[in-house]
Amino acid sequence: MAEEAKNTRPRFSIIAPAFNEEEVLPEFYRRIKEVMDQLGEPWELILINDGSRDNTLAVMKELHAQDPRVKIVSFSRNFGHQLAITAGLDYAEGDAVIIIDADLQDPPEVIPDLIEKWKEGYDVVYAVRKERKGESKFKEWTAKLFYRLIYRITDVDIPKDTGDFRLMDRKVVQTLRTMRERNRFMRGLSVWVGFKQTGVFYVREPRFAGETKYPLRKMLKFALDAITSFSYVPLQLATYVGFIIAFISLIATLVAVYLRLTTGRALLGQATTLVAVLFLGGIQLIFLGIIGEYLGRIYDEVKARPLYVVAETWGFGEEKAGPRVRSVQKTTSVQGENA
Ligand code: UDP
Ligand code: MG
Repeated sequence: MAEEAKNTRPRFSIIAPAFNEEEVLPEFYRRIKEVMDQLGEPWELILINDGSRDNTLAVMKELHAQDPRVKIVSFSRNFGHQLAITAGLDYAEGDAVIIIDADLQDPPEVIPDLIEKWKEGYDVVYAVRKERKGESKFKEWTAKLFYRLIYRITDVDIPKDTGDFRLMDRKVVQTLRTMRERNRFMRGLSVWVGFKQTGVFYVREPRFAGETKYPLRKMLKFALDAITSFSYVPLQLATYVGFIIAFISLIATLVAVYLRLTTGRALLGQATTLVAVLFLGGIQLIFLGIIGEYLGRIYDEVKARPLYVVAETWGFGEEKAGPRVRSVQKTTSVQGENA
């Protein structure tokens, strides 16, 4: 089987996560095919169905029936964009792996540029957005703020305005496969691993159809995952704030004693006390919450559940006997194989 796999092993693997993307997939496939066929080397397109509730899976199966280079990994429920990408990386066989959104916001026509850089010897080629089209001011503004914040408070130099759209060499992918952390921020991890990295500029297009699958709630979780994965600054903040407040209260105490001794007047009691206590209570609750964010993630790690559960796959070699159902066991062994 290894022999056979060698002969048919694709040179390029395209990974596209999709959550309720029935409207965009046919056009997405068409554009990928157009671009990739021109390169004249074997490629595969791995579509990850992230627990879609519409006809996404049926559309994927149609594409697979039409073109066996289209392969499907279908999750048992929605596990989120970052885990869908992770699954794609676990299944990809190409020498170079390209992650791209299925909604055509990342134009497939940029892929040859990424590949060119890879051929020049770069191991990670990320696509940098020089412009975003067709997105709300709010999204644009929060994204900008997010990338700048991440850049400032993390130890790895995560490039600004860069999404998951990127090419990675096989050795980078193999390294990433050994990193099984749960609440993951893939674009941070792909920088953390090192190797030769470079960027290519592109214009982010509006969505082809449908609407964003990242509501505010998911965006917040995503931002928190990114920060907690790569920075201890929020935890250390408690120390700084503690010092500042302790210092201020020391001065206030000295002033109060001084006034009492020299003028015989005491500072007004009730309101000041109440304000001080509530203020400190608020600060403490905030930092408890921050500790909670980290603690919850530590708990996730300790539980060591599989990152995702695959219900069925198509196109990975055994589909002749019908869809293969990967059990949880098998899914976790993916990490064993590459560790
Ligand atoms: N996506 C996913 N699972 C999710 C949310 C999104 O697989 O829970 C996919 C989605 O189908 C798309 C990509 O991730 O291909 C990026 O999502 P989206 O375009 O909604 O995000 P935006 O571009 O608005 O940030
Ligand atoms: Mg999008």
